[in-house]
Amino acid sequence: MWWTDGSRSDDGRVGAAAVCKHGNEWSPRRSFLCTGWMKVFDAELSAIGLALDVAIKQRETLQVHGVKTVAVFSDSQATIRQVEHMEPGPGQRLARRINRRARSLLAQSIATEIHWVTGYSSIPRNKEADRHANLARDVSAITVIERHYTSTSNRARRISEGRSAANAEWEADKCSKHFSYRLKGKAGTKRPIPMTSVKPLAARFYRLKSGHAPTGVYLKQCGHRDDDKCWWCGGTVAQMPEHLFRHCSRWNDQQKTLWKTVGETTGWKAGRCRHVQISELFTIEECDQAVMDFLAATEVGKFPPK
Ligand SMILES: [Zn+2]
Repeated sequence: MWWTDGSRSDDGRVGAAAVCKHGNEWSPRRSFLCTGWMKVFDAELSAIGLALDVAIKQRETLQVHGVKTVAVFSDSQATIRQVEHMEPGPGQRLARRINRRARSLLAQSIATEIHWVTGYSSIPRNKEADRHANLARDVSAITVIERHYTSTSNRARRISEGRSAANAEWEADKCSKHFSYRLKGKAGTKRPIPMTSVKPLAARFYRLKSGHAPTGVYLKQCGHRDDDKCWWCGGTVAQMPEHLFRHCSRWNDQQKTLWKTVGETTGWKAGRCRHVQISELFTIEECDQAVMDFLAATEVGKFPPK
């Protein structure tokens, strides 16, 4: 009877171990599977292989003692499933090795059984297998030398790690250059007033907030208008949010109401109200109602009438 375990340290060192008990003595086999080449899954498979290697070496002794079955215990269900089906995939090479060993034992009338056991380390034999697997992560403590290679499951892991790193880098790169795509302050369901209002109104709110509202300046930039002048007051002034929220003569009454309400809800003095940036106004949740009322009462943030 053999208990097996695999172990991987945080820095990627992987070890496999199989232990069996002779009388009161534990007899361990440990194998170091290199650093960063394999996963625990490979180590678990490798550990079963270690146990069967010993059984093959000692097959004559086993026959003399009338042993008919070699039982190997593993706490990894995934490992056992891989050994069962032998289909292409991670660990296939190791699974095939285990099957070759088992067939060769069977030729000597010794059956191989692989059982699942819970991985509780409180059980002494699990503890012993675990201890030796941890020891096996250090190359100086091994008892079996293996030919090393990068396993498929490790490669799959490395590919997925590489992919997430590349994604993160790409996102960081994109977000750092396009500030206008990032909404400042809370957004979504955390801003109940714009979120629960009628859609066209909410759309104008979020367009203005994100800097993508169809103002004169924006439409000229995009090539939709020849000039950036305000069409509401027919003036000669470039139409920017600042103009629409403070100076456009078409909406003077609504602007007064807006800034009065903003002053009341925030406690700001008139000077602060005069100097706050419009983009900042959109990040302040307390001002949402005043801003929404202003948008509802005006046509600010709408496309020019045809
Ligand atoms: Zn105007």
